[in-house]
Amino acid sequence: MNFFQKETETMPVSEIKKLQSEKLVRQVRHVYEHVEPYRRKMDELGVKPEDIRGIEDLPKLPFVTKNDLRDEYPKGFLAVPVKDCVRIHSTSGTTGRRVVAFYTQHDIDLWEECCARAIVAAGGSNEDVVQVAYGYGLFTGGSGLHGGSHKVGCLTLPMSSGNTDRQIQFMMDLGATFLCCTPSYAAYLGESLKERGISPDQNPLKAGIFGAEPWTEEMRRSIEESLGIKAYDIYGLTETSGPGVSFECCEQQGMHINEDHFIAEIIDPETGEVLPEGSRGELVFTSLDKEAFPLLRYRTRDICILSRKKCSCGRTFIRMTKPMGRSDDMLIIRGVNVFPSQIETVLLKEGYSPNYQIVVDRVNNNDTFDILVEMDEAMFGDTVSAITGREKSLMAAMRTMLGIGPAVHLVAPHSIQRSEGKAVRVIDKRKLVTDSQWLGK
Ligand code: ADP
Ligand code: ZN
Repeated sequence: MNFFQKETETMPVSEIKKLQSEKLVRQVRHVYEHVEPYRRKMDELGVKPEDIRGIEDLPKLPFVTKNDLRDEYPKGFLAVPVKDCVRIHSTSGTTGRRVVAFYTQHDIDLWEECCARAIVAAGGSNEDVVQVAYGYGLFTGGSGLHGGSHKVGCLTLPMSSGNTDRQIQFMMDLGATFLCCTPSYAAYLGESLKERGISPDQNPLKAGIFGAEPWTEEMRRSIEESLGIKAYDIYGLTETSGPGVSFECCEQQGMHINEDHFIAEIIDPETGEVLPEGSRGELVFTSLDKEAFPLLRYRTRDICILSRKKCSCGRTFIRMTKPMGRSDDMLIIRGVNVFPSQIETVLLKEGYSPNYQIVVDRVNNNDTFDILVEMDEAMFGDTVSAITGREKSLMAAMRTMLGIGPAVHLVAPHSIQRSEGKAVRVIDKRKLVTDSQWLGK
């Protein structure tokens, strides 16, 4: 069995809870003393730090939302003097104005250890060569896995995203055994290797650690086949540090949350009520060890389920299911809830590639719903009537899955733009909010 920090990762649950309680009491005091907007929230609810004596008191604390962080941009939630910080990162801005997160050296070390746990859980050791093809820079993906790879002692290839020719050249020439990037970029690399006549068993990769965006089990299988690897999921968000908040072990039955550093709760997104283990709801995190940007009860807007069921890998940390989209990823089209992940599931089941785009608009007060799907070369060579037949059967499959029927358009191979980072799956013309609009508010 592979562990980076075995003693911690296999700690009895009662000890995890005791440790979390001790850390929570200390962290609440730190936040109350140093983060003015959070102190205000606690005062409004009439909660004092001494009311929090352990994790059972957590529900007494107020939530923090992404909008709270946006309102306090850039430094309102910073809990230490700037001179104690060594770095910032920022969210990808997928859903609006960016949030800036600060790190002390201690914060960086713990974050990198979390990423190291993920690499080792996926079978990595200091004999591996890790190709980091997540973006470097403000995005947390590149730096997080880079630091984790160093901690494991792997040879690290700091490729960043993009420049596919160079990615493939270095992968082959330096014998990369691990690939770390977004699942959509992994799929693109698989496609690019095939185009260059390199079969899955000719590349040196054995595993991949993919995250930062939602991806389905079907997408996992498709990546595993095209790259000839085992694909592992990793989850995280800038507000809690970055990737490595949770990661998959060899069992691949959900991601273990690093509970020595984070408390996870599931709440009803409508009422804020804490739901019992096994319920589907919004994931909420409390960071127990972060010094610079320690968020208490941060609402991720990611929807998932937690499970304390024993895992045969030996880890005792609670597991979360793959978040199959965020609550704000959900499209409401003609009154029906639609998640992009449902569309991806249908496409891959029906033998299409994960290259698609959803376009929603409003014409004469009615929602229009179109899905563009790429054909492969063989389909593209078909007769027009065969292509029309395929579109019809795909529309029927979509209607069965979603409850409403989109217009499906099969398009030429390579006509949908590939993403080097997070894929842009949805173009919702009904409510375009851009970064600059947020910043100009
Ligand atoms: P932004 O919120 O602007 O995208 P981040 O880059 O910090 O900023 O992204 C964090 C978000 O990415 C998470 O809240 C989650 O929605 C998504 N995410 C990260 N990892 C995964 C994963 N493995 N599966 C699904 N979604 C993920
Ligand atoms: Zn496990």
